[in-house]
Amino acid sequence: MTNFISRAEAEELCDGMIQQFIGGTAVIPESVDIDSFVRFFLKCTVIYESIVEEDKDRIGFTGDGKRPLRIIKGGKQKEIIYPKNTIVLDKYLLNPGEENHRRFVLGHEAGHIIANRINPDSPACFHHFTDRTRTECKKQKNTL
Ligand SMILES: [Zn+2]
Repeated sequence: MTNFISRAEAEELCDGMIQQFIGGTAVIPESVDIDSFVRFFLKCTVIYESIVEEDKDRIGFTGDGKRPLRIIKGGKQKEIIYPKNTIVLDKYLLNPGEENHRRFVLGHEAGHIIANRINPDSPACFHHFTDRTRTECKKQKNTL
């Protein structure tokens, strides 16, 4: 079954989580420490690997305990199944000048974690460099 929520409902949901994260003050800040939100509020593990999927635009991944991710480690390609609540970002995002991009991708993957908690049947998902044109993630973004 597919459940849809409106953008307004998603905003309300996110505002509620941010309120809890910042300690319940009335004013939502203009910016949020996404690393702390993901690690301490969502209680996710964030790791950095060299992602080597055939699609070179894949730079972020949210594990679901089922779908493997292909990485290169120690000079060898491996397919790893990451558990739920694990976000894998490409090491490329640690390069100088990629900080904003890294935080954006981390926030995007946090959205998948939240969507998965609302709908545990939602699949693992890749974040692509050009994500807006990909149906793989769009499909999940619009279905909660
Ligand atoms: Zn995505």
